[in-house]
Amino acid sequence: MNLEKIQALQHHLQENEIDWAYLSDPGHIAYFSGYHSEPHERILALFIPAVGEPFLFTPALEVQAASESSWSFEVFGYLDNEAPYQLIADLIKKRSKSLARFAFEKSSLNLKNFELFTQYFNGDYSYDLTPVIQCLQLIKTPRECELLLEAGSWADVAFEIGFKAIQAGATESEIVAEIEYQLKRRGVSHMSFDTIVLAGENAAKPHGNPGDTQVKPHEFVLFDLGVIWKGYCSDATRTVSYKEPKDFDRKIHEIVLEAQLNAQQAIKPGITAAELDAVARNTIASYGYGEYFTHRLGHGLGTTVHEFPSLVEGNDLVIEEGMCFSIEPGIYIPGKVGVRIEDCYYVTKDGAIPFTKTPKALQIIE
Ligand code: MN
Ligand code: MN
Repeated sequence: MNLEKIQALQHHLQENEIDWAYLSDPGHIAYFSGYHSEPHERILALFIPAVGEPFLFTPALEVQAASESSWSFEVFGYLDNEAPYQLIADLIKKRSKSLARFAFEKSSLNLKNFELFTQYFNGDYSYDLTPVIQCLQLIKTPRECELLLEAGSWADVAFEIGFKAIQAGATESEIVAEIEYQLKRRGVSHMSFDTIVLAGENAAKPHGNPGDTQVKPHEFVLFDLGVIWKGYCSDATRTVSYKEPKDFDRKIHEIVLEAQLNAQQAIKPGITAAELDAVARNTIASYGYGEYFTHRLGHGLGTTVHEFPSLVEGNDLVIEEGMCFSIEPGIYIPGKVGVRIEDCYYVTKDGAIPFTKTPKALQIIE
C-alpha cells in the first residue's frame, strides 16, 4: 500500500472539492493499494474519499487475497448473485454525507459500470482522474525503480529464450509460445502486453500480430515484449537477423540504433520530452527516413505499461530525476523491412540507467 500517494490524491480531491474518487484501472489500483489483480468481467474498485478511509471492493473470491496484501484498510466483497453497485452505494452513503462530486478514471471505467454506479447518486460526474493519477505516478521511488529493474531483467531472459527459438521453419506464434511457456515455468505469470514477434516484412507493421509466418534466412525478426513482475511492467524491443542480413537492412538497423543511442545519451534532468523525441527523430531524418518513423519516441511505465511522460512532439514537460520511460525509435518501410529498438530507463541526476541490458548492436542468429 502506498499511503503517501493515497494522501496526495486525497489532498487533490479536497482542493478540487471532489467527494469520492472511483479507481477502476487494475494497474492504478495496484499502485495505491498494493493489491494486484485482473478481475476480468467482475468488479475490482478502489474508492477513495476526500476525507476519511478508503476501501477496496473486490469479487468475494478475492477478499482473502486482498486482505493478505499490503492493503491495510477495509476490503468488501460481493458474490456473483449480488448487485455489486447496490452494495457499493450503501458503503459510500454510510461513510459520507456529501455526495455531490465524483471523479472517475475515464480511460478505464466502461460505460456499463459507469451507468450502474451513477444510478444510485445524483452527482457531478465530469471530473477525470486519469491525468491526476498519471501525474502522481510520474516520479518513481527508489523501490519502484528496483522493481522496474527486476521486471526489465525478466525481459532480458525473454529475449534470450526468443533468440534461441529462432530456427529454420519456426513461426512467429511458435516463438511467442516458447517465450511465454519458459517464463511461466520460471514463475513469471503475466506479460505486460501480448508478446510481439514479427518476421521479415511483418516487422514493418509496428503493432502487428504474430501468426504463422516462418522466419526466413537473411531476414529480420522483431521482438517487443515485457512482463509484469511484483506489479511492475517491463517493455523492450530488439530486432535481430536470422543469418547474415541484407546490406540495406543492416543499414536501417544502424540508423535506428544511432537514433536510440543519441536519445539515450541526451536523457538528463532539464531536457523536455519533446526535445528527446526530436533527438531521435532528427537522427533518422538526417538519413532520409523521417517519414518511416511513424510514432512517438516513448512513454512512461510503472504499474501500467503506458504512463506519463509521453515523449512526443509538442510535449514541453521537463524531464526530472526519478521519471521512467521508454526510448523506442523505429523505421518501418512497408513490404520491405521494419526495425525498432527499445529500452526503458530511469532518470538519474545526470543521466539514465536502462532496465534492460540485452545488447542492441545487430545480433546475427545462426
Ligand atoms: Mn513501449
Ligand atoms: Mn514495446
